[in-house]
Amino acid sequence: MNVRRSLLCLLAMTPMIALGLPLESRVPGGVALLPLGKAGAHRPAPRAWLDQQPVWVTRDHGEWIAVVGIGLDTPTGLHALRVSDDADEKSLSFDVTPKHYPEQHVTLKDMSKVRLSPEDETRALAEIARIKDIRQHWRPAPDADGRLALPAAGRFSGRFGNRRVFNGEPRAPHSGADIATPRGTVVKAAAAGRVLAVDDYFFNGKTIFIDHGNGLITLVCHLDRIDVAPGQSVLSGQEIGRSGKSGRASGPHLHWSVYLNGVAVDPALWVRQTTTGSSGKIRTPSTRRL
Ligand code: ZN
Repeated sequence: MNVRRSLLCLLAMTPMIALGLPLESRVPGGVALLPLGKAGAHRPAPRAWLDQQPVWVTRDHGEWIAVVGIGLDTPTGLHALRVSDDADEKSLSFDVTPKHYPEQHVTLKDMSKVRLSPEDETRALAEIARIKDIRQHWRPAPDADGRLALPAAGRFSGRFGNRRVFNGEPRAPHSGADIATPRGTVVKAAAAGRVLAVDDYFFNGKTIFIDHGNGLITLVCHLDRIDVAPGQSVLSGQEIGRSGKSGRASGPHLHWSVYLNGVAVDPALWVRQTTTGSSGKIRTPSTRRL
């Protein structure tokens, strides 16, 4: 095949909103929706990568759209998405603008979860490496859409991206959203998918990862109980466990993370359009949990 390689730098400036897709927010911890051109009936979907990580490309209103997760540690400024189809390879530039995330002070009674013993530190570092592998998992799922539902009923009690200070010591920013739930609250799959991993981690406690395809992975943790096993298929809204306060938690709540192309992005961008009635509402947090 005669593949012509060209470097075409395009600036996609206009923010987009599309059904079945998250809200767009081109900031660290946000999502960029980048148009890749008209989707012809007989043309295969283009493929896209950010650095070496595959990126979800979907069809929306007759157009291919790259749905790009932007990591919290992404420097502001121009970034390049590599896009390839049968005939062409190009680089698509997009701008990441700054976002200020507030500081959140948390007090933990258990100091062993703040200043780790050498054994706990070894364990925690090994788990962080395993979790990085899990969240970079890629399974193509051409028919999947980006609709997610809150995994439990309740208000948001801790925002994504908060710069957290535990007992006066700065730690990693908050990689998900916290939902205020009493212990034992039913936890559901945010969308259809496959259970990618379950485990009991030092920081996250009892944890479930669900792979929704195309690099979209959700995590729920600090659970009291896990009712699914790795490899199991789940339906949207299917009960998968019960909430609790396992791991490093200041009290009972549900922590929910959304990963896209290997990085954590703001869960609030995904549920705003689908959150109605009993599934809970997004509100300004009034209490602070991990
Ligand atoms: Zn949390």
